[in-house]
Amino acid sequence: MSTQVQLFIGGEFVNSRTEQWIPVTNPATQDVIAQAPCATMDEMEQAIASAKLAFKSWKETPVSERARLMMRFAQLLKDHQADIAEIICQELGKTVEDAKGDVWRGIEVVEQAANIPSLMMGETVENVARSIDTYSYIQPLGVCAGITPFNFPAMIPLWMFPMAIACGNTFVLKPSEQDPMTVNKIAELFVQAGAPKGVLQVVHGGKAQVDVLLRHPDIKAVSFVGSVNVGQYIYKTGTEHLKRVQAFAGAKNHMVVMPDANKQQVINALVGASVGAAGQRCMAISVAVFVGEAQNWIPEVAEAISKVRPGVYTDPQAAYGPQISPQAKARILSLIEQGKKEGATCLVDGSGIEVEGYPNGNWVGPTVFSNVTRDMTVYKDEIFGPVLATMAVDSLEQAIELVNASPYGNGTSIFTASGAAARKYQHEIEVGQVGINIPIPVPLPFFSFTGWKGSFYGDQHAYGKQAVRFYTETKTITARWFDDDIQVSGPNMS
Ligand code: NAD
Repeated sequence: MSTQVQLFIGGEFVNSRTEQWIPVTNPATQDVIAQAPCATMDEMEQAIASAKLAFKSWKETPVSERARLMMRFAQLLKDHQADIAEIICQELGKTVEDAKGDVWRGIEVVEQAANIPSLMMGETVENVARSIDTYSYIQPLGVCAGITPFNFPAMIPLWMFPMAIACGNTFVLKPSEQDPMTVNKIAELFVQAGAPKGVLQVVHGGKAQVDVLLRHPDIKAVSFVGSVNVGQYIYKTGTEHLKRVQAFAGAKNHMVVMPDANKQQVINALVGASVGAAGQRCMAISVAVFVGEAQNWIPEVAEAISKVRPGVYTDPQAAYGPQISPQAKARILSLIEQGKKEGATCLVDGSGIEVEGYPNGNWVGPTVFSNVTRDMTVYKDEIFGPVLATMAVDSLEQAIELVNASPYGNGTSIFTASGAAARKYQHEIEVGQVGINIPIPVPLPFFSFTGWKGSFYGDQHAYGKQAVRFYTETKTITARWFDDDIQVSGPNMS
């Protein structure tokens, strides 16, 4: 048997006693590189019990000590950025630069978690009535859980547990079973940074393990990132069990191109944002909407995208890697076929691509459709592959109407030289993250990641101030002290 991925419970890496294992494969070769356990129900209970026990002392740990843990952790992640990236490359197939970026975006959240003392300040008002003051404290919830997707195996777990733990909570993390090794390395570094036992646990598995987290009375809050159907299930089941839930889900992100935009910048931005990372990004641009004469640029965009080539991470010329699994590849290929059948024009067809020396890789070449309409499956479904749908409209108003009619609301962007067009777009668009001449507007961690509509279920978003609100309760104290009670000598002073 290949390497067994361990569970991380009570501060120790332990072998699971399960009989159910999930193969972890290199998506460029199909070689099985490890086996991930489906944690047993006893192991799930142990993980939650260990987090519950650790909460008793962790919540009493001074906020400045919690902040210092995050400072040391951020430094270790920086020192080991390349090692973590190498694991991502092996189990997910990202290019080296992309994998390093995955780690870096997570480090930035840990740096933010190191600012926790100022983020946890409450509010005060003196003299709400005569001699009465009201003030609030921010206190942790208890044991929180995180369930993460395959596409950012470092960044998304780091969106969750550092902020939760910095707030004084303890955490049980269930990473994607498709690339579970990255998080184990991160947990190892968290131990090296000085994390007390039980503050973080990592359990592996799939739906059965997630179901324990959603139903367990000792879990107070659940953070989820993944696909729409699962996100809805997590939100409904978690809230039904009276937990706080934030669920980040799938997307279909539009980029609107005005005819006054800089054409070369549009082309460069679209190439990276549509097929980069094999299209396996929740903020990828999957629809480009060309306004008026900008539609004349579609052939040039297609030409530029057709030159992009996937490959293995050891090839520095590779622009992106394989899809995560043969199933994901098959799904994307069938959506491309459906696009053709439904009448879209396939300007660039990546279905038959091969990568020399890697005949078994889950490769999908860059693909571009034109003449896409809003009733087509390639428009409606999140493809999560290197496929760009292009559309043409006559006016900015029509573009805004199209984007606002989408059930998703994760990200969008507008490329224009007009401040007035940009202002109108940012104001009227019903999407939570808007880029102006920026294709993938992911906010840095002092803001929050604010998807809307069908891309997010809940109210408080990931990282930034909203994460602190999500992972804490506010306690408001109203106090009265009487001047008459002030004594100049106390009972022990006589
Ligand atoms: P997924 O929904 O298949 O899996 C996500 C997690 O849920 C995994 O840990 C998995 O084990 C678990 N899971 C899967 N099926 C389950 C079920 N039936 N019940 C309970 N748990 C289940 O998602 P994925 O394929 O790993 O990730 C890709 C998706 O994630 C895309 O839709 C993408 O848009 C989305 N995503 C969204 C964001 C965002 O911020 N909105 C960020 C990254 C990825």
